[in-house]
Amino acid sequence: MTTECQKCHGKCCRYFAQPIETPEDWDDFDDIRWYLCHEHVSVFVEDGDWYLNVENKCRYLSEKDYRCQNYEMRPAICRKYDTDGCDLTGDDYGYELHFLDDKQMEEYMKIKFGSKVFEKLEPKKKKSKKKNDRS
Ligand code: SF4
Ligand code: SF4
Repeated sequence: MTTECQKCHGKCCRYFAQPIETPEDWDDFDDIRWYLCHEHVSVFVEDGDWYLNVENKCRYLSEKDYRCQNYEMRPAICRKYDTDGCDLTGDDYGYELHFLDDKQMEEYMKIKFGSKVFEKLEPKKKKSKKKNDRS
């Protein structure tokens, strides 16, 4: 364990981020809005690429000493990660966009597609039939 890691609470073992397809149309953005309805999920854009970020601690991170309880069998991605520019020592990521919840995405979609963009989600009101309407 490095000196930096000894001072850290295992920041790099408390989330994972997966690239997702760049959204292109309303449906794509609405799918991302659905991701963001879930707790502990955010979406960010870095260097033009979109990522789903899941803030969920690895089951093997000990809360007693912040060490890996699966050290011998830890996945390759864990082995490759080092303290040079890591979550503790690196600068802020400087995301181009960062959505923390679905409401932030709603606002973004209104700007991108127009303020009436969510009207299509509302159920269409049934026309009330007139008494003399035989159809
Ligand atoms: S690699 Fe960085 S973020 Fe991960 S435990 Fe060590 S100091 Fe913390
Ligand atoms: S397997 Fe170990 S090193 Fe990898 S994320 Fe989990 S606790 Fe961290």
